Amino acid sequence: MTSTQQWIEQGLTTVAGTYGRYPLVAARGEGCWLIDSDGKRYLDFLAGVAVNNLGHCHPSVVAAVRDQAGTLIHCSNFYHIPAQIELSRLLCENSFGDRVFFCNSGAEANEAAIKLARKWSTETFTPQRYEIISTKASFHGRTLATVSATGQEKIQAGFAPLLPGFKHVAYGDIEALQQAISPATCAIILEPIQGEGGIHIPPPGYLKAVREFCTEHQLLLILDEIQTGLGRTGTLFAYQQEAMEPDIMTLAKALGGGVPIGAMVARAPYADALGPGSHGSTFGGNPLATAAAVAAFTELNKPEVLQHCIDTGSFFVTQLEQLKKRHPLIRTIRGRGLMIGMELGSEGAPIVNRALELGLLINCTAGNVLRFVPPLIVSRDEINQTIEILDKIFAEQ
Ligand SMILES: *Cc1c(COP(=O)(O)O)cnc(C)c1O
Repeated sequence: MTSTQQWIEQGLTTVAGTYGRYPLVAARGEGCWLIDSDGKRYLDFLAGVAVNNLGHCHPSVVAAVRDQAGTLIHCSNFYHIPAQIELSRLLCENSFGDRVFFCNSGAEANEAAIKLARKWSTETFTPQRYEIISTKASFHGRTLATVSATGQEKIQAGFAPLLPGFKHVAYGDIEALQQAISPATCAIILEPIQGEGGIHIPPPGYLKAVREFCTEHQLLLILDEIQTGLGRTGTLFAYQQEAMEPDIMTLAKALGGGVPIGAMVARAPYADALGPGSHGSTFGGNPLATAAAVAAFTELNKPEVLQHCIDTGSFFVTQLEQLKKRHPLIRTIRGRGLMIGMELGSEGAPIVNRALELGLLINCTAGNVLRFVPPLIVSRDEINQTIEILDKIFAEQ
């Protein structure tokens, strides 16, 4: 049998080195717990980076995958796919959207949104109207177009020349956005809460003001709900707490209950700009991924799951605030639902490493923000265990 050390050594040899990996070899998952190849159990408050919103191996996702795997795993998008149709219906009936384009990841969903915005705008107005305004500290993915949309130099470094037609303004600042548009602008892309950038919540009314501004200037509003969507902030989509609706919304992460899938949800008049042959994906929305997603979506959309996320999220924040009183290293706690950031007065990496040793999985964004995105089914007891581990770690600093 391959030992933990052998897996790590082999992995570092033949898997591309695009991640600084922790010395954990993942073996199994159960609810909020990840179990390594030595049988050590970790409380998973990273949840595959906000993917495992139902925890690991949720029975209804497992059943749907097993069943679909024995029936039809893949077929071409040249044909109609029942699970894909069902998922598109669920997404449209539960959002502002009329049409869904399926792909395999968040970056691909944003690519689709960028292509749609350009095509609709250049065909409706002039070929010069293609520019998209994004925000500083945003994150929209790792393909070249989405790296160009992303407002972080460290993610863009080394990949010049980037795709032209993107401008970045301060997040949460409506005036900066208003001043940035020109006759070339066709769309605005935003996260309702910035995730990778450090869990930044915009000021109240910002998203509504952006919506009104977009309507006034015939700009498409693209909301990147890849991290905030699917119950993470306590409602199915984060925009639903903001008294506004986008024109396009992108989803991925939690959509497939752990199976890779992305989606772009759009209003009909815009979506129809992408006609037959204009865009596509071999795997996008395939039977296996959409069967998993129908099962995951059906669970996540239950009022008791969303209510549990709100209740548990506020319990968690209260506990974190208590911790902050005891440990001056903790600067601020911010979040909504179970998307929570803890800003520190120092680098977060040593805390993350120590948490791993003590059986808690978290990560750090923006250098000094610990990110907590546990499964939405997390219990108070599991939150208390996390608080205990964090208390111990901060006491050691
Ligand atoms: C994770 C993420 C992406 C990229 O998704 P991938 O599936 O990794 O391509 C894009 N936008 C946001 C807000 C994300 O959190």
